[in-house]
Amino acid sequence: MKSEAVPYFPSLDDAIASLFGGGIKILRSDRVAGGDINYAYRLALSDGAYIFMKANTKENASFFAAEAAGLAAIAKTGVIGTPHILGRGIDLGRGGYSFLLMEFIKSGERVSGYWETFAYELAAMHRAETANFVDGGIYGFSGDNYIGAGGQENVPYESWTAFFRDCRLVPQFKRAVNYFSTAELKKIDRFLEKIESVLVEPEFPSLLHGDLWSGNVMTGNNGKAWLIDPAVYVGHAEADLAMTELFGGFPGVFYDAYKEAMSMQPEYSSRRDFYNLYHLLNHLNLFGRTYLPSVMRIVNKL
Ligand code: ADP
Repeated sequence: MKSEAVPYFPSLDDAIASLFGGGIKILRSDRVAGGDINYAYRLALSDGAYIFMKANTKENASFFAAEAAGLAAIAKTGVIGTPHILGRGIDLGRGGYSFLLMEFIKSGERVSGYWETFAYELAAMHRAETANFVDGGIYGFSGDNYIGAGGQENVPYESWTAFFRDCRLVPQFKRAVNYFSTAELKKIDRFLEKIESVLVEPEFPSLLHGDLWSGNVMTGNNGKAWLIDPAVYVGHAEADLAMTELFGGFPGVFYDAYKEAMSMQPEYSSRRDFYNLYHLLNHLNLFGRTYLPSVMRIVNKL
């Protein structure tokens, strides 16, 4: 991954000139709704092309370095739609801002068999070679990244179950410590002692999207699912599938097709809540105590 660094530009004008040629200008920029962390824009270029830009404060430039690395990893598998990254940078104009430029996904009508195709392509991504994505271990990623606005540690590990406990659950529990009573903290300690025995090592490691809910899937103009806004790392594919079920879920045909394409280990459903505990803890830390009962319901299962 490191050899394919995303181009960095010292200004937006410099990025446009370097990527598209000196004569090309931004004719207009239109806000795109939908994101909850960054400002998003469709930039119309003077040659008639559109590109997509995310912007944030210059202090938050690391969000875009991480997002670019994640999208590039998904693109590297070559099996599922994801926007091609053009570059990133920090522009000192208008008080200073960081930006990320990528291919603009033109929305299209869903093809027939959309959900089955999405499931097969996701399974293919989960079966892709992962060795290039982690330095010095099997699980993790080549750098830390973000899950929403929360930091996500990607220390290389040889064991999935230890990685999930130490790099996913423990940092979130630590961040959330003030939400819990002394009795609850004792339960959490016991939970963390037992969690490795109820999770399983996967048959093979998988590149995960990491934040796979419907808001991070777009329909491209090829009518198929495109993945955006990832929190990638190498882990157990079950963790991605679990997250799809957390906020509403996809239609049954998606799960049937996924299970046909990916040989699932027995009793996935008994592990699903433990994977989703990570996302619920992240929501507790980002959005507050409404998520506390859902967190404790899962902690109390062990
Ligand atoms: P945030 O990082 O703020 O959560 P998102 O990545 O979710 O932002 O993007 C905000 C919205 O912009 C998405 O909901 C989607 O509608 C749209 N979007 C994201 N990426 C692209 C793209 N490459 N091309 C066109 N539209 C996009």
